[in-house]
Amino acid sequence: MFGVEHPIIQGGMQWVGRAELVSAVANAGALGCLTALTQPTPEDLAKEIDRTREMTDKPFAVNFTILPTLKPVPYAEYMDAIIESGVKIVETAGNNPKEHMPKLKAAGVKVIHKCTSVRHAISAQKNGVDCVSIDGFECAGHPGEDDTPGLILIPRAADQLDIPIVASGGFADGRGLAAALALGAEGINMGTRFMATKEAPVHDKIKQRIVEASELDTTLIFRTLRNTSRMFNNAVSRKVVEMEAEGKSIQEIGPIASGQKGRLVYEQGDEDAGVWSAGMCIGLIHDVPTVAELVSRIVAEADGIIEERLKRFAS
Ligand code: NAD
Repeated sequence: MFGVEHPIIQGGMQWVGRAELVSAVANAGALGCLTALTQPTPEDLAKEIDRTREMTDKPFAVNFTILPTLKPVPYAEYMDAIIESGVKIVETAGNNPKEHMPKLKAAGVKVIHKCTSVRHAISAQKNGVDCVSIDGFECAGHPGEDDTPGLILIPRAADQLDIPIVASGGFADGRGLAAALALGAEGINMGTRFMATKEAPVHDKIKQRIVEASELDTTLIFRTLRNTSRMFNNAVSRKVVEMEAEGKSIQEIGPIASGQKGRLVYEQGDEDAGVWSAGMCIGLIHDVPTVAELVSRIVAEADGIIEERLKRFAS
């Protein structure tokens, strides 16, 4: 469907889904994904798409996330920039992509809709998306409000949908890929694992922090706002949870939880500069390989599990 060699997607990641990482993923034979809102304006997004094309001739996608933001986002203009640039794969996330579907379909764009519940996946299918990325509670960023882990969500979505599904949330190695295929998915989506690669535009200190961290090092913020987000457990995310318990509003919490502060974490390497997304699979990440090493290792590990371990059980 997407013209890539391996069933691995690098999903949207605010501040991380930039040309350097996306082109490395594409060149490694997987599907990379620029994050639209990482670019300050639609014009900058168009330039980032051009920059990515200078670094790869392989297909890549753009993530288009529709969630509450501190400042209004000109979504239609970002969408026009994507379509006018000729990108043929878009990952929508955060909210129903319905209003953007006619434009996307008219431009021949394949749409992957990332969502966290079977009912939203069914609705996206009705609205004409080509594929659903079903995102379990383990995931980084926004797991929704149902708290359903992938082990349940992936087969539930596979049972209910006619279109292909991609398993997302908690994936970091070949064991996860083999498991996702067994559960009925056609491939996996990974975010946090790609943050700890040589090409990711993330400060080395943060990559090292990811390597050291365990699966216990994430926390959920914004539960009280019904905009739950899984973040690295640091001084700022703990402060946000504390402010929520005191009944503080988004206007009061926003200044410390803003994406602009989170960006500094990746740029300056200070893990407490702001909140930053991390999935529970952070406990499965033990090194900082190149993207090509990571992708080929995951594929080889999954092949080994399917060809040897699973065949041994079957016999
Ligand atoms: P931002 O600085 O505008 O907002 C910071 C956080 O506060 C975000 O999590 C946002 O969802 C939340 N927020 C803002 N206003 C809110 C409100 N009225 N009610 C409840 N929550 C509110 O966000 P940003 O870091 O510049 O990111 C832009 C958008 O992209 C946000 O919606 C963010 O959640 C989303 N995002 C996308 C990805 C991705 O992978 N594409 C990753 C992380 C965040």
